[in-house]
Amino acid sequence: MPVLFIGHGSPMNAVEDNQFSRGWKEIARKLPRPSTILCISAHWETAGSLVTGLDQPPTIHDFSGFPKALYDVRYPAPGSQRLAQEITSAVKKVAIGIDREWGLDHGCWSVLRQMYPHADVPVVQLSLDGGAPARHHYELGQELAPLRDKGVLILASGNLVHNLGRVSLPPRGDFNTPFGLPWALEASDLFKTLIDGDRHDELIDYHSLGHAVQFAVPTPEHYLPLLYALALKGKDESISLFNDEAVAGSLTMTSLLIQ
Ligand code: ZN
Repeated sequence: MPVLFIGHGSPMNAVEDNQFSRGWKEIARKLPRPSTILCISAHWETAGSLVTGLDQPPTIHDFSGFPKALYDVRYPAPGSQRLAQEITSAVKKVAIGIDREWGLDHGCWSVLRQMYPHADVPVVQLSLDGGAPARHHYELGQELAPLRDKGVLILASGNLVHNLGRVSLPPRGDFNTPFGLPWALEASDLFKTLIDGDRHDELIDYHSLGHAVQFAVPTPEHYLPLLYALALKGKDESISLFNDEAVAGSLTMTSLLIQ
């Protein structure tokens, strides 16, 4: 099964028909039908690593200030106890706990609602260990590789460039009008060069990539899902980009298909 990193951007992409949500729909049509989905979202940080263990994970509306229509959205995909167990046995590096409270956060359902609108593929989320260094996330990602052979779609959801404190809209445009501040475009170009060259060590050591990247990744949670996706890239696999645009000055929607 291919691996995805998705730049999710605004939660409104869950309900809007725009170039990004269309990009997600299109990619779903190109993929083989997954048996289950493992989602690694920027929006679930915990102490240690957890997987969701509920049979019917609730839709979590983890944002504020959006229209009621977005709060009304439910994404009723079932969970999968079986996948949760498979993850805990595949990973030897750390003990992964099973969580029975978390459901699906918007980093996950805003994308899946567009990709699989019938919510008929079971979904499990893996949390980000908020205290772990970047390399830990990469190595944990490597251990998930056997799941791909079982038809599991591993979908990492974040944003390569994500600085909400510096959001800036173009004069005549909205949040999703392509527009990037110079440092955002510089960081985006550097990330893409390193991704294209399989220069994973430099991407793991992103703190050393200079000022533009420091602005692009002020906090790690939207960047770290990328490391899970890259860790799963096989030697003979290639990466294609889609939704490769900057928006709101300080975010990029750039998404990766690894296959
Ligand atoms: Zn987000």
